[in-house]
Amino acid sequence: MNDLYLKKKKAHILKRGHPWIFSGALKEGQEFPPNGSIVRILDDQGNFLAKGHYQDSSIAIRILSYLDKPIDTSFYAERLKYALGLRQKLVISDGTNAFRWIHGEGDRLGGLIMDLYGAHLVMECHSDGMYLQREEISEAARSCIPGIQTVFCKRPGLVRNEQLQKEDEFILGDAAETVILENGRKFLVNWQTGQKTGFFLDQRDNRQLLTSISNQKDVLNLFSYSGGFSIYAASAGAKKVTSVDVSKNLEDLFIKNIELNDQSKDTHEMITADVMEYLKSSADHDVIIVDPPAFAKSVKKRHNAVQAYKRLNAKVLEYVRPGGYLMTFSCSQVVEPSLFYNTIASAFIDSGKSGQIIKKLGQGMDHPVLIEHEEGSYLKGLLIRVT
Ligand code: SAH
Repeated sequence: MNDLYLKKKKAHILKRGHPWIFSGALKEGQEFPPNGSIVRILDDQGNFLAKGHYQDSSIAIRILSYLDKPIDTSFYAERLKYALGLRQKLVISDGTNAFRWIHGEGDRLGGLIMDLYGAHLVMECHSDGMYLQREEISEAARSCIPGIQTVFCKRPGLVRNEQLQKEDEFILGDAAETVILENGRKFLVNWQTGQKTGFFLDQRDNRQLLTSISNQKDVLNLFSYSGGFSIYAASAGAKKVTSVDVSKNLEDLFIKNIELNDQSKDTHEMITADVMEYLKSSADHDVIIVDPPAFAKSVKKRHNAVQAYKRLNAKVLEYVRPGGYLMTFSCSQVVEPSLFYNTIASAFIDSGKSGQIIKKLGQGMDHPVLIEHEEGSYLKGLLIRVT
């Protein structure tokens, strides 16, 4: 067992409940284990404090438990069962069979993301520790839901300081895609070729909200991916839905989703283009959705990201008809809600428009945030009636 000592007077970090230990808090001169090892964390007197995954990076330990018990299949099974209980109460229904089962630190499993698409489980291992324990985690998941047919493990390419850069792999089965149900709508999800785990589950509630303002409207969905918001808008009676995404090869997926939901192709127009290019000459719309990828992946990039959100939203506002709606988002974790709201307010000033905030938006309830780890709250949005 690998024991790691904290420096003197650093034990309070754990008492505050934050699930990370930074490298600076670890005593110098001790022997560090290989990346991904399970470690016991001790105070400078040798008293046991917690267990976690070690990594030779600025986040040196992701805490998993405050008990001195094995981090094994039954540990994961217990955490997974607890997390599943929440989703069963709040998310899963006759109309919804896809949800985020584990949201990293928010479910006390830092480094692990798990999305369940019907009987297919997609894991994203963001740390070497989780990657090394993928088999145990998969087994734990199957003990909670015996009907799981596929377990696909992803290693996101942008993991910094993580060394086990392996290929994505099937741990169970070999299915690459399935049709999921979300609030009664159907979507084809492919975890091998798709972005992230294949579908953006975090927007479920916001897509549902869109249905209440789409009837008979002309809707523009910017950064549309597989057409999530677009399918909801059309199902709620939108007159016309235009979807814009720069990624090539999304057209087949989008058409498939239109067909799965028995919608008319005439209602939809899909444009493959860069959004800023498209916005040089767009028509006016009643409702515009803006859901870009994270513009800032680090605090260093925050300033530029904020400028980009402002420019984008100011431009979009030129095309919202008076009395229409802007539904705008940021999934950059380093752009905190108040900064995002101020940025959108600046975009309004720049565009010479005004509006009313109708609702502040965020990630769905299957993306819980640990109270001591605000960083887990990454998606924020605003529904604004534009005047
Ligand atoms: N709203 C979507 C998820 C959007 S993810 C949903 O609910 O499913 C962000 C999308 O933005 C990705 O599909 C990506 O291909 C696209 N994208 C990234 N940069 C872009 C750009 N400059 N112009 C248009 N689309 C872009």
